[in-house]
Amino acid sequence: CGIVGYVGPRPSQDILLSGLARLEYRGYDSAGIAVIDDAGSLDMRKRAGKLGVLREDLKAAPMPDGTTGIGHTRWATHGGPTDVNAHPHLADDDKLAVIHNGIIENFAALKNDLLSDGYEFKSETDTEVAAVLLGREYRANGGDLVAAFRATVAQLEGAFTLLAVHQDQPGLVVGARRNSPLVIGLGEGENFLGSDVAAFVEHTRNALAIGQDEIVAITPDGVQVTDFDGNPVQPEPFEVTWDA
Ligand code: GLU
Repeated sequence: CGIVGYVGPRPSQDILLSGLARLEYRGYDSAGIAVIDDAGSLDMRKRAGKLGVLREDLKAAPMPDGTTGIGHTRWATHGGPTDVNAHPHLADDDKLAVIHNGIIENFAALKNDLLSDGYEFKSETDTEVAAVLLGREYRANGGDLVAAFRATVAQLEGAFTLLAVHQDQPGLVVGARRNSPLVIGLGEGENFLGSDVAAFVEHTRNALAIGQDEIVAITPDGVQVTDFDGNPVQPEPFEVTWDA
């Protein structure tokens, strides 16, 4: 339901949690974050319930911080509002984390194919199918996260905003959108992704619109947008003028 991504020089956990707090008005039933920590490992925490539950959990058992991360608030459509069904969903031996807004209509067929290929699932969500599929494509594409993302979204039907990070690609957050919103926030030596500008407006008012059926890759000093075929796209700049 709510999506935020960060890459830059700052520890990301607080940025992700406060971005999610600004998206709370949309309603949600669970929340989670994944961060590539400074030692180069992917750490993930997710909980059913309000953001406060996740915050308390992180306070009681802190997770290593890092400068690349993604955060999600979930409005359950496939699978009840449980800890396991909350996002992020992990794949590729827990090195890859994916968050998703929307519904992947053909998840059952994709899941059957992955199951017959020996892949396992922990949750009942449509989202985990996209995560596991991305893990398979990551291997098939020689560890190129953007190429794997392109190959994955080509197989998905329905509505999705998807974000992913992989621990072997620190400093990179990849996203895509179809029938579901995603915007870029441009900072100084840092960049953001959000399902809504509210996710990053406390850090920057310079934004870029991402069009329908486009893929974006953000690094601390760069933004690259392409269509689903990989052709470069020039995103439309705009300024957030309202008070947040
Ligand atoms: N369909 C996904 C799920 O149920 C994502 C829901 C959302 O947009 O938050 O997990």
